[in-house]
Amino acid sequence: YSEEDNADDYLFKIVLIGDSAVGKSNLLARFARDEFYPNSKSTIGVEFQTQKMDFDGKEVKAQIWDTAGQERFRAVTSAYYRGAVGALVVYDISRRQTFNVVTILVGNKSDLKEAREVTTAEGKALAEAQGLFFMETSALDSSNVTAAFETVVKEIYNILS
Ligand code: GDP
Ligand code: MG
Repeated sequence: YSEEDNADDYLFKIVLIGDSAVGKSNLLARFARDEFYPNSKSTIGVEFQTQKMDFDGKEVKAQIWDTAGQERFRAVTSAYYRGAVGALVVYDISRRQTFNVVTILVGNKSDLKEAREVTTAEGKALAEAQGLFFMETSALDSSNVTAAFETVVKEIYNILS
C-alpha cells in the first residue's frame, strides 16, 4: 500500500443540517481553514471541504458538505444527502426557534421481510440512544406512514402550543 492508497481507505461524507444562519458555514470554515466570517451572508461558496483526521494512526478523510446558502433550492432534489454517513444538526443557542427540530428515525420498506438486514430492535436501540422517535414504515403497503408523520407533527405541536 502506498500512502495514497491508505488515505483512500476512509472517506466519510458528512452533511451540515440546520436552519439558515445558525452558523453551519462558519463551523465548516473554522474547522477546515480556521477562519471566521463575522458578517457572512451565506456567500461562502463551497459545496464541500475535505479534511484529513488521524485516529489510531489511521488517516480518515471527512468530506463535509455545506449548503452554500441555497438551502431553499437544494432540499431533497440535490445530491446533498446521497452517500452521507454522518450529519451535524446545528441550532443557534440565541434563537430558540432553531432548536425545535423534532427528528424521527424511520426504517422504511418494512414490507421487504425476506430482505431485512436491520432488525427492529436495532433501529429502536439506535433511536433510543440518540433520543429520536422511531418507527418502521412501508410506503408500499402504507403501514405506519401516517403514524410516522403524525408523531413528528404532534410533537412539534406539543412544543409550540
Ligand atoms: P449558515 O446560514 O447556517 O451557514 O450560517 P453562517 O455560517 O452564514 O452564520 C450566520 C451568522 O452567524 C453570521 O453572521 C456568522 O458570523 C454568525 N455566526 C456563526 N457562528 C457563530 C458563532 O459561533 N458565534 C457567533 N457569535 N456568531 C456566529
Ligand atoms: Mg451557510
